[in-house]
Amino acid sequence: MKARRHICDVPNCGATRQRWQRLCENCFARLPGEIRVGIAEAHHQKRNMDWRRLRKRAAEFLNLAGPGAGLPATCKHRVSLARVIELQQRILGERPDA
Ligand SMILES: [Zn+2]
Repeated sequence: MKARRHICDVPNCGATRQRWQRLCENCFARLPGEIRVGIAEAHHQKRNMDWRRLRKRAAEFLNLAGPGAGLPATCKHRVSLARVIELQQRILGERPDA
């Protein structure tokens, strides 16, 4: 029997997982139990719609999905604090070396 590489159920994660788990160790540690159990159960019971929905929720929870990854969904269009300070200094004509 060939050794197969099992990939984490979370979209865009791409990490390997244990054969008997649905998630990689990293996602497993970071996701709330409700989603972890939900993914495993939905997959086991072949509820594909639920399974897909939960995987999407997992990706959203971990901020792995789509543009703005790494930021909370509500902060997608916000600039960083450092950038705000930089812009404000420029407006006020302040310079670090002045
Ligand atoms: Zn993962």
